[in-house]
Amino acid sequence: MKLKDKVAIITGAARGIGFAIAETLAQNGALSVIIDLNKDDVDFAVQKIDDAGFKAIGYACDVTDSENLGIVFKDIHSKFDKIDILVNNAGITKDDLLMKMKEADWDVVINVNLKGTFNCIQKVSRFMLKQKSGVIINISSIIGIMGNPGQANYAASKGGIIALTKSAAKEFASRNIRVNAIAPGFIQTEMTDKLPKEVVDKYLAAIPLSCMGTVKDVANLCVFLASNEAKYITGQTINVDGGLVM
Ligand code: NAP
Repeated sequence: MKLKDKVAIITGAARGIGFAIAETLAQNGALSVIIDLNKDDVDFAVQKIDDAGFKAIGYACDVTDSENLGIVFKDIHSKFDKIDILVNNAGITKDDLLMKMKEADWDVVINVNLKGTFNCIQKVSRFMLKQKSGVIINISSIIGIMGNPGQANYAASKGGIIALTKSAAKEFASRNIRVNAIAPGFIQTEMTDKLPKEVVDKYLAAIPLSCMGTVKDVANLCVFLASNEAKYITGQTINVDGGLVM
């Protein structure tokens, strides 16, 4: 039990990679606090972890709603008297070529992915700085490192997360708070299941390990980074991408 009795908040955790992270942290002894948009989805995810005999609670909250986030984080802290781990996973895409990209699509992607991450770090830092401990993990993407046609807004938000990670790591290091980012590559999710076979084959041909990653591959790295085994690692971005970017 690498994370026994740790209190971990995971955003965008009702499904996909976020749910796998919440489930895996709980399997390793943490209490997972699931934050996501839709209350029914949150309740369903919490129930699934609970049914498997692990610990989870949930809140319906939008990471762009700074005021409500403040209330939620305060409530979590008042219940458990600490917050050990924050995983900023909530993220969206609104793809289009730069020439055609709507301003609203630029704004919403930056707002959810980058500002949402900033909002949660700011809220949790209040408690982590005081308790002089904590781990923050930001889910970026290899697209934030290498760029991608049709994803300028997403790439900028994910690149911004890497820069934010380094600054936060430098600001918080003296208080024993580590901040790292994970950059997943091509991970098998509902989103990638819908891609045409030609697109999938093209990606697979470029991946040295010749297969897609799983949500568990990302979640396992989260457990390691959140644990004391990673106590000398901060400010880093670690790719989970089968060697696609190196
Ligand atoms: P997903 O299946 O779309 O799940 C994202 C979750 O975040 C959803 O439950 C969504 O809720 C929630 N969410 C969206 N906006 C939110 C907001 N404003 N506040 C709170 N929650 C919000 O995504 P995923 O594929 O698991 O990806 C998770 C993270 O990994 C994202 O940051 C993504 O950029 C990153 N990533 C994914 C891949 C990949 O291959 N899948 C690769 C690299 C990086 P709703 O369902 O209600 O909208």
